[in-house]
Amino acid sequence: MQSCPSCDIELPDDLKFCTDCGTPLETWEGLKHCSECETENSGLAEFCTNCGIPLPKKKSTAAEVGEGLAWIAVGVAVLLGIIFLWVFIVLITSDLS
Ligand SMILES: [Zn+2]
Ligand SMILES: [Zn+2]
Repeated sequence: MQSCPSCDIELPDDLKFCTDCGTPLETWEGLKHCSECETENSGLAEFCTNCGIPLPKKKSTAAEVGEGLAWIAVGVAVLLGIIFLWVFIVLITSDLS
């Protein structure tokens, strides 16, 4: 859900304009959440409209880092799987001989 910056009604996320007043909603796609006062600010805002602290320039930075870490975790998991499989095969073949 997103809310209209002009009249504050709740709207579905896929809408580009407010159904009530026609305000374009695209600039609100990347809402910046203030860590100090919990206020939701426009994605274009550089400072919190409520308390004035600087907001992060790019909202996606943390998400990108998280995504990178997730891929590294997947890579490590696959590598560990291969190592365990290899150890398992070595153990089985050594048992047979
Ligand atoms: Zn509106
Ligand atoms: Zn704030």
